[in-house]
Amino acid sequence: MAEFVGPLDSHASGTPRYASEAMITRVDQKLRTEARRYALRFGCEACRAFDHEREACAYGYPTEPHRESVIDREEQLAFCKAFELE
Ligand code: SF4
Repeated sequence: MAEFVGPLDSHASGTPRYASEAMITRVDQKLRTEARRYALRFGCEACRAFDHEREACAYGYPTEPHRESVIDREEQLAFCKAFELE
């Protein structure tokens, strides 16, 4: 099971909305295996706000931290709290 680490940034006033829209989770081999086994959808590619042609977020958020490929190359994944399954 994924281990919750914490928010990407604080909710302090003046913090850009995006910073409070992502939560960081540690990625280990178990999470990678389970993500494949259960075909988990968590990245921009599966979000209804993702424009596949432009490879961009309709809300203007940066997508790099939330792409599904992050799980294969990083030790942390920033889940986007604005994610909405397509
Ligand atoms: S809302 Fe979040 S998960 Fe959805 S496309 Fe934008 S950045 Fe990606």
